[in-house]
Amino acid sequence: MDVQTQNRTSMDSLQSRIRDIQEATRGVTAQYGRAYILECIKEDRFPDELWAKLGEFGLLGLSIPEEYGGSGGGVLEITVLNEALALAGVPTLFLVVTGLGRVPIVRNGTPEQIRKYVTPTCTGEKKMCFAITEPNAGTNSFAMNTLATPNGKGGWTLKGQKVFISGARDADFMLVVARTTRASEVKNRTEGMSLFVLDMNTPGIKLQQLNIQVETAERQYMVFFDDVELPADALIGEAGKGAKLMFEGLNSERLLAAGAALGMGDYALAKAVAYSKERKPFGKPIGSYQALQHRMAMAKAQIEAARLMTYTAAERFDAGEDAGAHANMAKLLGSEAAVAAVEAALQTHGGYGFDRDYDVVTLWPMLRLLKIAPINNEMLLNYIGEHVLGLPKSY
Ligand SMILES: Cc1cc2nc3c(=O)[nH]c(=O)nc-3n(C[C@H](O)[C@H](O)[C@H](O)COP(=O)(O)OP(=O)(O)OC[C@H]3O[C@@H](n4cnc5c(N)ncnc54)[C@H](O)[C@@H]3O)c2cc1C
Repeated sequence: MDVQTQNRTSMDSLQSRIRDIQEATRGVTAQYGRAYILECIKEDRFPDELWAKLGEFGLLGLSIPEEYGGSGGGVLEITVLNEALALAGVPTLFLVVTGLGRVPIVRNGTPEQIRKYVTPTCTGEKKMCFAITEPNAGTNSFAMNTLATPNGKGGWTLKGQKVFISGARDADFMLVVARTTRASEVKNRTEGMSLFVLDMNTPGIKLQQLNIQVETAERQYMVFFDDVELPADALIGEAGKGAKLMFEGLNSERLLAAGAALGMGDYALAKAVAYSKERKPFGKPIGSYQALQHRMAMAKAQIEAARLMTYTAAERFDAGEDAGAHANMAKLLGSEAAVAAVEAALQTHGGYGFDRDYDVVTLWPMLRLLKIAPINNEMLLNYIGEHVLGLPKSY
């Protein structure tokens, strides 16, 4: 096979994998779509039926090797799933945190740890959340205070506090980033970080729900660790060397977040287009006015550009290449494009955009959030400035 034919064949198989995932996801969202998720949000309950169906269709197992009960593929496939769910108006923060949490375990855990913590998430039987953010450290995760100390029995004792933890109430496991050496005692701030998986039923874990307004089924929690006893097998990889593992996970999180932004951005645009074809206050559809049409067209162009970057970054990640720059750019561009799309949708809907029943203003918090979480876009620009352009560190 010549190089051109090989390239075409691999492109064809990539495209057909993407189409298969999109089609299977549509099979789920046809039953559990936007109306269903809005009901779950209203009732403050986890979308159990949706999750079970995603497990049944093998979609939750994407990115996990088949030998561990997964459906194979990599971050690209699970990003496409997240995008396809968002495209149906069903954003799930849980898929973002599960997708990210499983990466360091699959890449660095023992086969027993993978079977214990990852395999049951492929069917949806168990769910995983992720905890890195702390009230005082904020974006500066290296300044975290949560500390795990050896308990003299081969395990660890965890003490500290996390904030904004999505889905903590509904999760069975939590991947926690903690210090095993205090920041004040290390030469380099990346030293002394470790990753642990907690069983959420362990005594000493307390949750306090936060009053966050983002229209997703997952709520956010303050999580307290009050001398939580962890078994030896809770530690993923080597103690003190968790920073590298964490960044592998965080790059995949940026891609999953980009997928959500792209899907929700397209969802918002589709609403804008449909409405603008019908609404005729001056006799002509408002979609024929360039002020609105160009706004929608620009958002669409931005979404498609961000999509290319996202898929490229995911392919690099799955090939084991350094995907940091591309993943950061994908999340940056994806979230900016999604906000442009929801802004276009709001403008197009005029006053009705603010009527919750039109479900446009309800999209805004989630899409605007993506410029701040899982990582704010300023930090992504800092990364590009420093690591891609070679400029001096700014903070
Ligand atoms: C709905 C929601 C869900 C979340 N889910 C999770 C979760 O599941 N798990 C988890 O661990 N965390 C989660 N987070 C936390 C989220 O990742 C953090 O809010 C985010 O990383 C920022 O931290 P902070 O809010 O303390 O902001 P701060 O660190 O206080 O920063 C505030 C602002 O200052 C600016 N800024 C900060 N540092 C710099 C800098 N160096 N250069 C330039 N500008 C800067 C940015 O504009 C930033 O938005 C969630 C947050 C929300 C709101």
